[in-house]
Parts: sequence; structure tokens; C-alpha cells
Amino acid sequence: VATTTGRDTQIFDLIAKEHHRQESGIELIASENFTSKQVMEAQGSVLTNKYAEGLPGKRYYGGCEVVDQIEQIAIDRLKELFGASWANVQPHSGAQANTAVFLACLQPGDKILGFNLAHGGHLTHGSPVNISGKYFQPFFYGVEQETGLIDWDKVEATALKERPKMMICGASAYSRDWDYVRLRAIADQIGAVLLADISHPAGLIAKGLLNDPLEHCHIVTTTTHKTLRGPRGGVIMLRNDFPNPFGITTPKGDIRMMSSLLDSGVFPGTQGGPLEHVIAAKAVAFGEALSDDYTEYAVQVRKNAQAMAAAFVGKGYKIISGGTDNHLMLIDLSSKGLTGKLAENTLIKADITVNKNMVPFDTKSPMVTSGMRVGTPAMTTRGLKEADMERIVDLMDTVLMNADNDAKIEAVKQEVNDWMAKVPLYL
Ligand code: PLP
Repeated sequence: VATTTGRDTQIFDLIAKEHHRQESGIELIASENFTSKQVMEAQGSVLTNKYAEGLPGKRYYGGCEVVDQIEQIAIDRLKELFGASWANVQPHSGAQANTAVFLACLQPGDKILGFNLAHGGHLTHGSPVNISGKYFQPFFYGVEQETGLIDWDKVEATALKERPKMMICGASAYSRDWDYVRLRAIADQIGAVLLADISHPAGLIAKGLLNDPLEHCHIVTTTTHKTLRGPRGGVIMLRNDFPNPFGITTPKGDIRMMSSLLDSGVFPGTQGGPLEHVIAAKAVAFGEALSDDYTEYAVQVRKNAQAMAAAFVGKGYKIISGGTDNHLMLIDLSSKGLTGKLAENTLIKADITVNKNMVPFDTKSPMVTSGMRVGTPAMTTRGLKEADMERIVDLMDTVLMNADNDAKIEAVKQEVNDWMAKVPLYL
């Protein structure tokens, strides 16, 4: 039982177990990654003790001289990384970043148009169980059943019909790039604000490996912990600030710029005090992401994803859209007679972690699903290359094709553990 006086062995023993789990298995959850030790060191620092409501230089608390510098460095590094002109690094998570944007731009009941969750979108883009779908009126676009691709003409038709106040692009399980030029042209026709949520591929975008949303989308949000490899958190960015399109004025009658509305959308709109320890960890991660090492990493993440997709296709698995432009892929397991649930639960027995995922037009429930999502950010951080991806797919296929054979699964688990012991994560 935990005590309040001594070391809390109950919790630290569990942390040690989780450390072991992360080191000994193959991690393929596309939204996960392994931060550096210095990112964790910053997050586990005395900064957790500090209140700092407000922004650098404009706080509601004393004693913020040091955290002001840290938060400003985080902002400056993020701006450099993405070529942004303005950034807020305070959102506690990706969902918080999106909620702050909604509060800044929308009124309750306004229409929004997002990518269908059941086709790879995210909860925060209008799902009825999320604030975005409860407080606003959501409409959705999706992928085509035959191609697995978004048809931009259909997005345009829906936008022109419904005339949403905000259009949202970005996804949690879409392996292809986005046509931001086209989306902006659609948004301009109806005077909608275009939000890009680049939580998943942010690291590849930062390194110019995918289309640049900042040039074309009014507002960009991202999490910091997926491909970006930072601490868990969110950020909001603008490249080109603009007067808010809905005529919200200050008490003096000035039209407020979007950056100022977004700052207020975060605090005091949807959050209290910023997590300065997390912001310091974000600053460290952004610094790392500015390095040439990270550029090599991002390039390898995509090479690995392409090698993995090719290996799956080679073994007769169906990848939605046929392949990947980014760090992840969505695999339809129905042709193999498997469900996502069975795949996830069987692979974990061999210490291989994936998540079950709905595929577009899925006939199974979200708790069962016909698919699984896999991504390469975490295993690329461990130094694995293209040939290793083929080996991982071999191991996964052995497990999936022998789901009832405990001895075979145990042998794969042994191989996974022996392999991972040779590529230690945190020395
Ligand atoms: N947006 C997208 C596209 C995501 O994939 C996610 C997380 O999976 C989020 C937002 C939410 O991020 P968080 O879990 O940090 O709230």
C-alpha cells in the first residue's frame, strides 16, 4: 500500500513494469512514440510546481521570469519548425487544442464539416459523443469505398450544400496526403474557416515530406507526442494571421485578430494554468525536431511505413487505399477471416502492440472492427529499418495465421523479446 512519507513503491514498481513492457515489445500503435530522456527529464522537473496563467510577459502570477523564458523558447522553436508566424503551446492535448479553436471561431449550433470518424477521422472533428458534435452541428465527408481515397469533388459538393462555418481536415487513420490547396479553394467559396489538425503526420510535415498545411489552412493544430516525438500535449499555429471573420469586437470596438482569439480560446476559454513542465518538454522536443538527426528519422519513418505496407501486401493483406504516403496504414483483415479485436488480442500475446480500427464502410462494431491500424514512428525511434519491417510483418503474419496455436505464439514472443533486448530504448 502506498504511504505518503516514504517512496511510493506501489506506483514506481508499476512504472518499472510499464518501462519493461515498452522495452521488450514491438510497438506499432501509430499515435505512439518514445521521447528522449531529456524530454522526460524536463517534464519531471520543478516546473510542475509553478502556476503561470497568462502568456509570457503577461501573467496573472508572480515569479514567472523563468517559465516566461521557457515558454517563449518553446513558441520560437515551434514557429521555426513549421514556418509559423504565431503559436500557442499551452493546450494540454490535441483535443484541448481543437476545443480552443472551436471556442475562438464558432458559436453553439454553428455547422462544421469534418472527416468521418468511421473512415479515419478523429472524435474531436464532430463526433456526437464529443463536444464538437454536441455543441455544433456536424457534417462529414469520407473516403470512396473502391479507392479508400477522399474525393475532393464530393467534399466540395457537401460544403456548398451545407455551408459550414468551419471545415476541418486531418485524420487519425488516413494514410494519404491532403490537398490543402483544393480545400482552401472550397472554404473560400463559402467563407469557412479551414482548420488542419495534423496531429498524426506533424513530424513529416515539419520536414517537408508531405504537403504544407500552414500555407493554405487558416489554423493548424497538432498533438506533440505522435510523429513529433515530444511529451503528450497540443499546440495551435498560424502562418498568416487574419482578422476574425465573424466580427467579434473588443469592448473598444476593434476587430480581434485570430491569434488573439485563439490565445483567449485556450486561456481563459478552455484551460486554466498552463503545464510549464510539459511546455519545457515540448521546447526540448521541438529543439530535437529542428536537428538533422530528426530529419533522418522522419525520412526513415516513411520509408519504414512503405516497406511495411509492401510486406503486408506481399502476404495478401488488404491496405485501405493500397499503400501509404505517411507513417501509418489501415489494414482490412476481413479477407483473412479476422477481426480487429482478435488481431489486437492475439498479437499482444506475442508482445506486439497494435490497435483495432474501423475500416471505411465497416460492418462490425467499434469494439470489434474489421481492421487494425499500424504505424512506424515508435519502432523507427528504436533504430529499425526497412528490412526490419519485413521481419515484423513476418512475425505478425505467423501470429495471426496461428491464432489458436499457443506454442507458435510463444515462440514469436520469445523472438520479439530477444530482438528488442538488442535494441535498448533507454540505456
Ligand atoms: N486529433 C487527431 C487527428 C488525433 O489523432 C488525436 C489523437 O489521437 C487528437 C486530435 C487528440 O489528441 P489527444 O489525445 O492529445 O487529445
